[in-house]
Amino acid sequence: MIDRTKRLTIVHYGHPALREKASPIRRITDDVKALVGRMIELMHGARGLGLAANQVGIPRRVAVVEFEGELTALIDPQIVSAKGGESAQEGCLSLPRLYGDVERPTRVVVRARDLSGKRVKLTAEGMLARAICHEMDHLNGKLFVDHVDESTLHWLVGTTEEGEPIVQPTTLDDAVKVLTAARGPGG
Ligand SMILES: [Zn+2]
Repeated sequence: MIDRTKRLTIVHYGHPALREKASPIRRITDDVKALVGRMIELMHGARGLGLAANQVGIPRRVAVVEFEGELTALIDPQIVSAKGGESAQEGCLSLPRLYGDVERPTRVVVRARDLSGKRVKLTAEGMLARAICHEMDHLNGKLFVDHVDESTLHWLVGTTEEGEPIVQPTTLDDAVKVLTAARGPGG
């Protein structure tokens, strides 16, 4: 199921795995552990807060999140309750440089298993709740642009000498065109 000889990289918008509903892991094999290890490497390399297996081209239900120095692998995660709603900016390693506001619950309770197979129950708030919801979306073949507030959608095109972000507003249609073109044939 998971080919360990294949060198995994983060796939970008347009890759079919990003639109697939991921299938359960169930058995935590050495291949699953190797997959999680590689996902953590890629997340760190890209300075992301989270990464779902769909984003490395493998539609299986596993995601990693890192928040305030704590790294969590979520295997077959399920959100069992969600409360509140708050809109804030999100981006995605599979949609480089694109950002926009998405409404997410302020608090979620997640059940999953860790890498040792132990059942874990996690209560997450704020940014971590947002990151988990974002990764759960990936496992269901969804992307943040599916429910972004389009009026806030923008490209991060650079930073000023003072470190202020330079942004360029865009529409969803235009963003999709750019992302699709950037991917190129066979990419
Ligand atoms: Zn993402």
